[in-house]
Amino acid sequence: MKNNYTFTLFLIFNLLIGLLFACEFYPLNTAVGKCGSTQNSFFQPVTSCGSTAIDAKDLNTTELEMHEARMNIVLDQAQQANRKFVAHIYDNNGTLLCTGVNLGVPNMLAHGEIVAINNCTTLHGLKTFENHTLYTTGEPCAMCAAGLMWSKFSTVVWGSYNHDIHCKICMSNIPMESTWVFDTYKGLTDTPIRVIGGVAQERADAFFGSYCDRPTSIFYIAPQCNCVNKTLVTPVPTPTPTPTPTNPNSGTTNFDYKSILLTISIIISLIIMY
Ligand SMILES: [Zn+2]
Repeated sequence: MKNNYTFTLFLIFNLLIGLLFACEFYPLNTAVGKCGSTQNSFFQPVTSCGSTAIDAKDLNTTELEMHEARMNIVLDQAQQANRKFVAHIYDNNGTLLCTGVNLGVPNMLAHGEIVAINNCTTLHGLKTFENHTLYTTGEPCAMCAAGLMWSKFSTVVWGSYNHDIHCKICMSNIPMESTWVFDTYKGLTDTPIRVIGGVAQERADAFFGSYCDRPTSIFYIAPQCNCVNKTLVTPVPTPTPTPTPTNPNSGTTNFDYKSILLTISIIISLIIMY
């Protein structure tokens, strides 16, 4: 180390790099309440950096089109049944095995995902779902996320995010990202579930509609969320489309800019130090 000045520069530089590895969206100076359509929404209080799910826009075209086609079938059924929460389960060959609709019977635990799992067990004798994919109109709640982990699904895909259902649609649900549950997979399995959000999101969000002006509805909740204008958010680089990986758990389509930044930071740190 040359002197205190270079040492201070070294510390400041690494502090800035460290911030890059903190929350991608840093919700400073935000309003608390209901988020608008042009804002990113975060649960209040902010206890996490938000969802860690793979967002649909970061998938390659081939995989995205497959998920969108299947999600549109889920949404078709949801619209026909006039029920918000519907789930479908596909096997690894692309066969739709079972469906589940949240009908509120026989009790409040009969969420679409749970109904679909129980239907698959009844129809096909399945107790676990390795190499299966579950699609759901809305992001799983904490109960269903845990149920999907216990059931050993390989992939879970949803249309609308929990934070938007709560913060923009004013619909009551447990205010937490399902990935807070999914990210704790190590207690049950060695490999994480591939979790994908925002597939056919625009259609799904429109289908959920808005309860914000319907305070007498049993689904209404007054959101207390952190809202950040999207224009303030640093855009994530658009990934180059890549071929679909043969193993859906093996591929990542995110542009790994953080690794590049880390490499640059190490090189510059070494230059500053010596
Ligand atoms: Zn649920």
